[in-house]
Amino acid sequence: MKKKMTVLLAVVLLCTACGSIAEEKAQPESLAVYPKEDPSFRISEITDEIFERIRGKSFKEDCTLPREDLRYLHVLHVDLNGETQEGEMIVNYHIAEDVLDILRQLYEAGYPIEKIRLVDEYDADDELSMEDNNSSAFNFRFISHTTRVSKHGLGLAVDINTLYNPYTKIVDGVRIVEPITGEPYLDREADFPCKIDHDDLCYRLFTEHGFEWGGDWEDRKDYQHFEIPTSVIAEWYPGNQ
Ligand SMILES: [Zn+2]
Repeated sequence: MKKKMTVLLAVVLLCTACGSIAEEKAQPESLAVYPKEDPSFRISEITDEIFERIRGKSFKEDCTLPREDLRYLHVLHVDLNGETQEGEMIVNYHIAEDVLDILRQLYEAGYPIEKIRLVDEYDADDELSMEDNNSSAFNFRFISHTTRVSKHGLGLAVDINTLYNPYTKIVDGVRIVEPITGEPYLDREADFPCKIDHDDLCYRLFTEHGFEWGGDWEDRKDYQHFEIPTSVIAEWYPGNQ
């Protein structure tokens, strides 16, 4: 097992190194503005200090995802008043570079994101986090009545500007809306801030990085939600079927 992990680490490091070289050649201008060593946009492992903040909250007692599979992102974002704020997000290591790149590009473009805080600041309560229009990713849970971990539970789904981009589904003829305060924003023809649609930069960046958008689903709509396709996750986590 240890040997397998070492090989995996070597492959990851090699891929990261290749990615950096390719990027330096392809995007010199972007790097000139926001060099990779910019400490405002950084990735770290889950240190003991960070782990203390999430243990028993998003990293629940029954969490089956190894702590080593998660990464902490520190970013900057532009809030709804046009001011720069610091943000924090925890995602799976498979997508850490991608999400950092997406959030960096959104920041450079002045794209408004109200809050990027760990869901642990809301006691890992999704509803409270969404009502506060918070953007976040990792929150461990199993899919109801299964032993499969949800995509947020794997840190492989990201929610953006959650109040203005609610989740909705009809269950037994009744419309469910999450957060409940997001109901005014179910009218996707209306004009309001932070609305994610097909013309939106956030939509474009996430889909360019291989994510699917919950706003494209037929049986339900999750306008805030971007996730890695199930077929890709099956390769990364073959046991999570
Ligand atoms: Zn989501």
